[in-house]
Amino acid sequence: MRNYGISFKLWAAIIAMTLLLIVFILIFQTEFLYDFYYKLEMEQLEKDCLRLSRLIARGQYNTTIPYYSVMRRVNDIIIVTGRDGKVTYVEGTNQYKLGDRFGLRYIGNILKGETVHEKNKMIRNPYSVWPKEMDTILVGVPVKKTANITQENKQRLNEEYGIEAVKRPEISEAVYIITTLEYMQTTIDAIRKQFSYIFITAIILASAASYFLSQGFSKPLKLINNAALEISKGNYDTKINLRSSREIKELGNTINNLAKQLTRVEQIRREFIANVSHEIRTPLSYLQGYSEVLHDGLVESEEDRKKYLEIIMDETARLKKMVNEILQLSQIEAGFIQLQLVPFSMDEMIRNTIDKLLPYASKRNIGIEFMNMSGDALTCFADENRIKQVLINLINNATKHSYDYGSILISAYRQSENIYVCIRDFGEGISEVDLPFIWDRFYIVDKKKSENSTGLGLAIVKNIINAHGCEISVKSVNREGSEFCFYLPEYNEEI
Ligand code: ADP
Repeated sequence: MRNYGISFKLWAAIIAMTLLLIVFILIFQTEFLYDFYYKLEMEQLEKDCLRLSRLIARGQYNTTIPYYSVMRRVNDIIIVTGRDGKVTYVEGTNQYKLGDRFGLRYIGNILKGETVHEKNKMIRNPYSVWPKEMDTILVGVPVKKTANITQENKQRLNEEYGIEAVKRPEISEAVYIITTLEYMQTTIDAIRKQFSYIFITAIILASAASYFLSQGFSKPLKLINNAALEISKGNYDTKINLRSSREIKELGNTINNLAKQLTRVEQIRREFIANVSHEIRTPLSYLQGYSEVLHDGLVESEEDRKKYLEIIMDETARLKKMVNEILQLSQIEAGFIQLQLVPFSMDEMIRNTIDKLLPYASKRNIGIEFMNMSGDALTCFADENRIKQVLINLINNATKHSYDYGSILISAYRQSENIYVCIRDFGEGISEVDLPFIWDRFYIVDKKKSENSTGLGLAIVKNIINAHGCEISVKSVNREGSEFCFYLPEYNEEI
């Protein structure tokens, strides 16, 4: 099937419907009218014929007086024949002459006293009153003359054949009237003509209606299509303003929202790539610089050589960590990561993490303490591995930014079906200026101080907590310390 546009299909459908309706009405009208007129005409003709036959029977008219003047309608043919079918009177046609035979087909029936009808007889004679072929109807009736019987004959007939025979009229002639259905045909022709005008008008109207209707459909669709094309080319600020029906408007809004979403995604992507390439370039240039120095033998002392190698090793480690974290972050942000929700004990997890990190903290004489404020088992329903990562990141940060001989306090408690965890340190703290930005990717407060930092840790932490539908917050005072608090849903056995 060919791929026609909406406009054409709509037009075709409306036209087809109009056509069907008109043809249906036309057939109904003409057929109905034809039957109606036919019946009417036939009845009239029969009446005329009988009247004529009675007049002839009474001898009130004879063939020398034209019947025409009495009852003949224009174009009617009147033929009177004897019992033998010989024409004794003809009016309205010159196809038959006096003495010709007519109606031998009907005479049998007429002599039996019957009335004959014939429909659709064609008169083909070019010299006739009707030059072209016409539908006609013929009616023929007998002329019944009551026999002139003498009294004694009557007596005799009555005795021989019974009273009926006396009354039986004698059939002397046959009268035919033939009429055209011209009037009917012209009426039907007129109706047909009318309908053809109606049809043409209907087509014009339907075309106009379908044009406006389809414009109403296809114009907004074209607009939406163009907008979608623009969006696919990367012009995300494309907007569609439609004044159309509800569904089409909704489609337009969906496309607008899509464009908005794409703009956001594109912005995140650009920022991310810009950040990543910027952040990776720094360690790479370190690596390149120091390895070139070493390669060219420009290092004088063994001490320097060691120092440079250490820098190279540190930067490589940082780069590796960064690449891992970037991968992780991008997966979480893109929503590719499915959380593996399981019930686990939060206090157990905190204790295990402390055990793991305490050796590093102890090196700087930093103590880590944990307090379960609720006193009983705190069971979370979350992604165990990722929450472990959150704890490691937060405790590591607290250790990193604590002063030597400092302490870190971790507390956990239950509140309105959530488990809260807070990690408090008494270290450097974060200035008010930096505080709003610490969750951003690659945001590092003091670049010189943070060794092996990528600025991605807190971004990952926040993403993991948010992915659970929960929140993380920070309170910090510069040089006094910080407190990071987050919560997770408590495990409810009933669910
Ligand atoms: P990184 O992975 O480099 O540590 P983070 O995203 O974890 O980066 O932290 C971002 C910044 O927030 C860090 O540069 C650090 O200065 C600051 N920060 C994070 N935790 C603390 C804390 N407990 N005390 C002081 N500053 C902190």
